[in-house]
Amino acid sequence: MTQSDHKYLVIPGPVEVRREILEAQSQWMIGHRSSEFAALYGRLHSKLQQAFFTESRVFMVGCSGTGFWEGASRNCIRDDQKVLHLRGGAFSDRWASISEANGKQVDTLDVEWGEAHTPEMLKEALQNGPYDAVCMVHNETSTGVTNPVKDLAAVVHAEAPDTLVLVDSVSGFLGTELCTDEWGLDLVLTSSQKAFALPPGIAFAAVSDRVLARAEQIEYRGYYFDFLEIDKSAQKNNTPSTPPVSLMFAADQQMDDILAEGIENRWARHIAMKEMTHEWATSRGFGLYADEPYRSNTVTTVDNREKGIDVNEMSKFMAGRGFAMDKGYGKIKGPTFRIAHMGDMQIATLEEVFDGLDAFIGK
Ligand SMILES: *Cc1c(COP(=O)(O)O)cnc(C)c1O
Repeated sequence: MTQSDHKYLVIPGPVEVRREILEAQSQWMIGHRSSEFAALYGRLHSKLQQAFFTESRVFMVGCSGTGFWEGASRNCIRDDQKVLHLRGGAFSDRWASISEANGKQVDTLDVEWGEAHTPEMLKEALQNGPYDAVCMVHNETSTGVTNPVKDLAAVVHAEAPDTLVLVDSVSGFLGTELCTDEWGLDLVLTSSQKAFALPPGIAFAAVSDRVLARAEQIEYRGYYFDFLEIDKSAQKNNTPSTPPVSLMFAADQQMDDILAEGIENRWARHIAMKEMTHEWATSRGFGLYADEPYRSNTVTTVDNREKGIDVNEMSKFMAGRGFAMDKGYGKIKGPTFRIAHMGDMQIATLEEVFDGLDAFIGK
């Protein structure tokens, strides 16, 4: 392995962060009411708009992605209206629980783990509305399924034009195609530590005018994630409370590097890594857990049921080679394990991961 001072993270979050990005955090601190901060906010914001493919605002808050789940549920769903959550894995389940924990009226559209939501089933489920919002997960990290968000959003707009489309792209953003405005997504939330390849602790959300108009109709939006307050500060390139300045330095540097690579090139690199991973897994007698047309570009959930390797032993063996491996998530831990191929990982590194896994299997 190329490094010996740490384990390279092959887990689906947090992912490996390059040393240049870690070092970008060590710049001298600045006050967040200073003009230097406003300049940092402004230039990072315009790069984030490019990354989200949006002309709307992008919020940045010191929290993990979960914070914006709660913010989205609170600001977008009125108490006397319903929300439809599309569930098919651990993360989409959790977002629905968060809406419930905030007292919202939750309907769910469930698919088996490993399956995707289709426009047809969504069209039917919308008959049970009206819904203030439909919440969906772009890339379900537990199962390795990418939902057809573009087509799902189109169905919502055609069938229920007043319904907001809220999307979790925590593990898709900057690893797989996502076009906020063109696809008509009202809110897209993400966190830093997945395909964005930043340290954990800052989350981002592209937010449409329709979302803010809805928030105005809601009296109790909470405090920390009150979108109207966040927007008021954002208009002055500022934040209501103290932001994670060091992480914003890192994000600013990382966005420069991502734009230099090219966002479409970054998506293409992820597709290449996905294809390599499928080829490795299937040629070694493993299955692929996710349904065929919906397999994720950023994480592969390897079906270990037939082959039955001991994932704990595998993980120990790989740690000896300098790699931190996943052992599966939640109820499918063991029968499956995940190989994350996201962020700044390069093809050569992924090949070293496969060499290690081959050495373990052949052992
Ligand atoms: C990791 C993950 C989350 C949770 O994000 P945090 O930043 O840990 O709060 C939510 N959704 C998906 C799809 C994820 O992969």
